[in-house]
Amino acid sequence: MKYKIAVLPGDGIGPDIVEEAKSVLNKIGEIYGHSFEYTEALVGGCAYDATGTPLPEDTVEVCKNSDAVLLGAVGGPKWDTLPGHLRPEKGLLEIRKALGLYANIRPAKLYDSLKEACPLKPELIEGGFDIYVVRELTGGIYFGERGRKQTENGEAAYDTELYSTMEVERITRKAFEVARKRGNLVTNVDKMNVLESSRLWREVVLRVAKEYSDVNLNHMLVDNAAMQLIRNPKQFDVVVTSNMFGDILSDEASMLTGSIGMLPSASLGKGKFGMYEPIHGSAPDIAGQDKANPLATILSIAMMLRLTFDLEDEANSIEEAVEKVLEEGYRTGDIYSEDTKLVGTKEMGRLVVENLK
Ligand code: NAD
Repeated sequence: MKYKIAVLPGDGIGPDIVEEAKSVLNKIGEIYGHSFEYTEALVGGCAYDATGTPLPEDTVEVCKNSDAVLLGAVGGPKWDTLPGHLRPEKGLLEIRKALGLYANIRPAKLYDSLKEACPLKPELIEGGFDIYVVRELTGGIYFGERGRKQTENGEAAYDTELYSTMEVERITRKAFEVARKRGNLVTNVDKMNVLESSRLWREVVLRVAKEYSDVNLNHMLVDNAAMQLIRNPKQFDVVVTSNMFGDILSDEASMLTGSIGMLPSASLGKGKFGMYEPIHGSAPDIAGQDKANPLATILSIAMMLRLTFDLEDEANSIEEAVEKVLEEGYRTGDIYSEDTKLVGTKEMGRLVVENLK
């Protein structure tokens, strides 16, 4: 099979880590007989330098003509003084909008060999955990009506949480579909004891769930979910929730793994199309120095193979190779500890390639 991938390395360590992810993908292609065709395009600060805008039209076209997008990271001090609409980060927000990406998936997986980085007590994380937070990305309070007004107590401000049935249906379906490829459990997180928008949310989740009777479903109020993530993270498989709750819970969940250089993400739209990127930023302090951890980007490729291309064996092969390299004690600087072997970006990429099956 031939797969078309738009590659947007971006700024800072973006090009360093994307290069390693591509070499992993090339090796997967060789082993399993697939051909991956890359089209590079500009986004972020480098796009601004070359064209005067952080998201050139060309880039959107390249992405729309591809099956999936691989993105590195954007931003850096060089562009910090630009006005808001020209800043590199604006390119990211705009591309998500242009591609209609409404579901953000952030895994929080604790690798046994990195468990000392987890801030929780050892007995709580015995055997590790593996959570997918599926966050609604284009609706809710971040996009609802907002404003300021005068009240008898002086100036006041408001933001509105608004969700349509259609928006809840499509994110719920994504969560159930993803759960089918994993542990078959969806935890819906809302605040239905207080919020009307959450009551509609829950009604829709319950209705959609009838189409997925093979997947288990439970519900949690968001305050309890925040607590349960710390009390017993192993109870979760797929968590589905609104934009704001997902923003907060996915950060909390990723903190439990203790290592920003290890965490991939996916943003999904209609059908199987998706954009895959590490959750970390462009790390300008170590850009171009062969110090960046490429594993978050390499693991993003595994998500791409699983979620967009339905290539489960290939995705597992990458994840197993990453685990093997960690078990053998290889570490980039960000996850280095005494008694482990320090390697650079390129060597880490090469080790993963070497361990692919
Ligand atoms: P950052 O994630 O870039 O870096 C935070 C710290 O983690 C730094 O010390 C960095 O060296 C380290 N780090 C991050 N990724 C690493 C990796 N793969 N390997 C080793 N170490 C790693 O966050 P920041 O410093 O707050 O932001 C830097 C720039 O990135 C800013 O311009 C910010 O706006 C941008 N940013 C971009 C994205 C994105 O592209 N998705 C996300 C967050 C921040």
